[in-house]
Amino acid sequence: MKHVLGKCPQCAGQVVEFRNFYGCTNWRKPDGACPFTLPKTFAGREIPAHVAADLIKNRCTKRLSGFVSQAGNNFEAKLELQFNGSLWRLKMQFTG
Ligand SMILES: [Zn+2]
Repeated sequence: MKHVLGKCPQCAGQVVEFRNFYGCTNWRKPDGACPFTLPKTFAGREIPAHVAADLIKNRCTKRLSGFVSQAGNNFEAKLELQFNGSLWRLKMQFTG
């Protein structure tokens, strides 16, 4: 039994930790598999299970440090889940 991080925003299934990512347990349902996943690393920063759980529950996180820009600089940001009409996408939020 896998540890459940929270309720899938896409299909109300369960989001669990897989080997290389977080994802919905309905991903291989024959009638309409759920595409919801979250990466374990984003912008150079590890996304631990408790942060993924916070994101799933609140659709955003508090300000997190330790992201790394393409130029190699560390920066802070919030993570946010945004619905684009068909899929929940992971975004960075710099305000607030
Ligand atoms: Zn789902």
